[in-house]
Amino acid sequence: VANLKLRAERDGDHYILNGSKTFITSGMRADYITVAARTGGPGAGGVSALLVEGNTPGLTRTALKKMGWWCSDTAQLHFDHCRVPVANLLGQENGGFQIFMLNFNQERLALALQAYGFARVCLDEASEWASSRTTFGKRLVGHQVVRHKLVAMATRIEATRALLEDLTRRLEQGESPVAQICMLKNFAAQTMQFCADNAVQILGGMGFMRGTKSERIYREVKVIMIGGGAEEVLNELAARQLGWA
Ligand SMILES: Cc1cc2nc3c(=O)[nH]c(=O)nc-3n(C[C@H](O)[C@H](O)[C@H](O)COP(=O)(O)OP(=O)(O)OC[C@H]3O[C@@H](n4cnc5c(N)ncnc54)[C@H](O)[C@@H]3O)c2cc1C
Repeated sequence: VANLKLRAERDGDHYILNGSKTFITSGMRADYITVAARTGGPGAGGVSALLVEGNTPGLTRTALKKMGWWCSDTAQLHFDHCRVPVANLLGQENGGFQIFMLNFNQERLALALQAYGFARVCLDEASEWASSRTTFGKRLVGHQVVRHKLVAMATRIEATRALLEDLTRRLEQGESPVAQICMLKNFAAQTMQFCADNAVQILGGMGFMRGTKSERIYREVKVIMIGGGAEEVLNELAARQLGWA
């Protein structure tokens, strides 16, 4: 974010925006777009937050096709000499970085909540299936290997819930536990990945079929591990916050 390229040059009481943004959630249908733009020099101190109206001349949008998140459009936005009133500046000029950083806490918490919910759905579906499907003369859940998979899923889900509750409380109390939010987002995404993978395995061929929840959730895993900050980048941010880098 500190290295972003899109430029906003001041011209009287307007900024002139040139550049593009890719992978923008709801970018195809947004009426208002919050844009991080470079108004100053390199680095975090040269970034401003601007509110761009969706009908601004020079703004065009391209829809992107995705592995998952089909219920949410994702776009590439192109800014070609877009004139944005200076009145649309959010906060101070060159003071946008902090705004976006604070927003990341909420975004990553929300992604962790999604991951937790999806993981639970996978466990529920796998548990129901394992209780009704019979192989080799007994229900799937009667095979120790299968029920231990369910326990492993439930263990990670419980740990994710505990972290979520703790960090939600800390955010509500006005803290900004950046490192812990990074760790939570990564842990929740790994929980979702683990649960989606094991649920599809327990469902067997049925888990590969369109129509099961676990198949759908399996396709939603990677965006949670990449969006809002890739796992590796969040680990590095946590390491810096904890004084190890
Ligand atoms: C569906 C979707 C919606 C999105 N919505 C938005 C949005 O609304 N607004 C917005 O601003 N962004 C949005 N994004 C962008 C998202 O935040 C980025 O895709 C994400 O941060 C990863 O950046 P990148 O795609 O540029 O990957 P890159 O930075 O090119 O990284 C590629 C991979 O390399 C590895 N990597 C990168 N850097 C390091 C490192 N320092 N150390 C080790 N490994 C590394 C990681 O595995 C990473 O996944 C969205 C993305 C997706 C997929």
